[in-house]
Amino acid sequence: MDDAAYFHAIPKAELHLHLDGALRPRTVLELAKEGGVPLPTNDLEKLKDFLEATDRTASLVEYIEYFQLPIAVLQTGPALERATYELCEDLSKDNVRYAEIRYGPWLHTQQGLSLTDVIRAVLTGWAAGRKAFGVEGGVIVTALRDMPPAQNLSLAQVAGRFVSEGVIGFDLAGDEAGHPPILHEDAFRMARALGLNLTIHAGEAAGPESVRQAISMGARRLGHGVRAQEDADVMATIRELGIQLDMAPTSNAQTKAVRRLEEHRSARTRRPSRPSP
Ligand SMILES: [Zn+2]
Repeated sequence: MDDAAYFHAIPKAELHLHLDGALRPRTVLELAKEGGVPLPTNDLEKLKDFLEATDRTASLVEYIEYFQLPIAVLQTGPALERATYELCEDLSKDNVRYAEIRYGPWLHTQQGLSLTDVIRAVLTGWAAGRKAFGVEGGVIVTALRDMPPAQNLSLAQVAGRFVSEGVIGFDLAGDEAGHPPILHEDAFRMARALGLNLTIHAGEAAGPESVRQAISMGARRLGHGVRAQEDADVMATIRELGIQLDMAPTSNAQTKAVRRLEEHRSARTRRPSRPSP
């Protein structure tokens, strides 16, 4: 069995998955047609170039641009529901048994949906998808670091109402440099008080101080965390508290959190030996 077949075959958990980064290109095409959203091309193959980052992507800011088209077509309840449902199907085809799907509800309110509408639509797609394809897990609601703190606080309040319906966590993402997590500590305090687990993207495009702040705000799982390695004290805290790092090596190479995949620390780790038949 080659590597690709091996990794396809083993049962997996997907812990760091952005809904708006995981749409089928054909779905983007169809939703754009339905919603009258202009696309740079109507050729399915060419459209993929506008949806998939590559190793030539220069930075996190450039990487985030690949989310623009999916976000533009995900502005209605049915579109959000469909994308979530199809993602469950794609996950099950990839033998993912447990998944946590994250997205930033504020990004989907551009045509009048309320935060509640957005969260409900994704949860409806998730409930149908998990039932149809047998995927376990939940949905993580993502706050955006370049938004006013008050808006993220209101997002936490709304997200907290859906704890019993599948929203399991609260996250912070977006352009990290110049937007320290601590600005949003009120939102994270609220999220925790309402029973949500906390995770924060940190140490991806900003240094160890960002990681330190994220941990002080109660995050026990960090998106990426790559630059924590620049500070021995931060590394020691991560070990002591058992903080989990969602490493995402391919993404790190694309956002230039590391220069090349080959230079990624975990890329040199040998894969675990296979269980004997
Ligand atoms: Zn992420």
